[in-house]
Amino acid sequence: MGRPVAPANRPPTRSVHHLYVHVPFCRGRCDYCDFFSLAVDPGAAAGAQLLDRYLDALLAELELERQRLGLRRLRTVFLGGGTPSLLGVPRLERLLRALEPLLTPAAEVTVETNPEDVDSAYAAWAAGRGLRVSLGVQSFDRDLRRTLGRSTAADPLAAMALLREAGCANRGVDLIYGIPTQDMAALARDLAVVCHLRPEHVSWYELSVEPGTPLATRLADGDVERGARSTERGDDGEGAADRAAEMQRAIVRRLERAGYRWYEVSNYALAGRQCRHNSAVWRGEQYVGLGPAAVSTLGEHRRRNLPDVEQYLRVLAWPAGGASAGAPPREEEVLSAPVRARERLLLAARTGARVPLTEVAPVLERAAVPSLVRAGLVGEAGGTLWITRKGRMVANAVCVRLFRDSYVKGTTCR
Ligand code: SF4
Repeated sequence: MGRPVAPANRPPTRSVHHLYVHVPFCRGRCDYCDFFSLAVDPGAAAGAQLLDRYLDALLAELELERQRLGLRRLRTVFLGGGTPSLLGVPRLERLLRALEPLLTPAAEVTVETNPEDVDSAYAAWAAGRGLRVSLGVQSFDRDLRRTLGRSTAADPLAAMALLREAGCANRGVDLIYGIPTQDMAALARDLAVVCHLRPEHVSWYELSVEPGTPLATRLADGDVERGARSTERGDDGEGAADRAAEMQRAIVRRLERAGYRWYEVSNYALAGRQCRHNSAVWRGEQYVGLGPAAVSTLGEHRRRNLPDVEQYLRVLAWPAGGASAGAPPREEEVLSAPVRARERLLLAARTGARVPLTEVAPVLERAAVPSLVRAGLVGEAGGTLWITRKGRMVANAVCVRLFRDSYVKGTTCR
């Protein structure tokens, strides 16, 4: 990774058009999750107070960044988590009102939403605001959600129906494949539901069992049958990889037949409905992140707010008298040329975008390219390189071969 540097308050030379807002709270923790979030009950007095304080701090950080970066032409905003919908409509509305003057007229605003937060009032608010709603489903099969240690209290089908009836015109569903015990028949049932619901966008990621998560422990203890699940870290057996590839091929085939475009390794969209925020990040555009654990990439600088809610709240509390709040605790680094080249190639591998060979030369294993081209996994022409459709099916393996040895570690494009 890049060289750590002292905090740099120099504004970037180019405008920043993309904003990510992290909401690090969930009703409960899912067994497979290793994202930074805390369990909170928004209905309890202490939970509500924490969420109110958090929103105050977020707005303070937004104001700091507005002044520092001159934010005023945001093309996309992504509220992610955690569970942003857990903030509830009044707090979300307060946040959107603060963002409104900074947005371009056709800005895309996404709110990651969990089914248990969707009632008719939430759906009407999201539709009225013209939001892009990304619904965390994981699987429409209740037993598979239970296997993931995810709440089964709410019905994602009911949430989708409420959003549709309210007139929400940009709905996405987030799903997982390779869940323990999930076989091809179970995957086909999820595919059938998705094609019937026809959301504008589908994200469908392979389950990655992260060390230290409750799911990893349950699998190790034999409390959950591995069944037909696909890969997990450290298990690179051919059988597991084959099953994962078979599931992904089935997803791509079925969704393309239904009219979706496979525009990123794990993402599919109806015409014109790609997620503009994530697409900008994958193109390597600058973005700023707010909230604990949020990442910003500003020119050659990468910045990460520390994953510490209490410290974040303390530092960003507006002092009496209207003096401005301090910046949240964070670490910063300057991205070296090889790190930038490596990221460029990894991001391009996700979408099949062409990259100039000169830009990725510092990390590229040039000798590996001809055989990958012959295998139909990589294309090369006019001084550019790209990962083909066939290559995207096995993008991680292709990237591992494309990188020089010293840049292979940590290579993943999912
Ligand atoms: S709701 Fe999402 S962010 Fe929260 S614990 Fe579950 S998977 Fe993680």
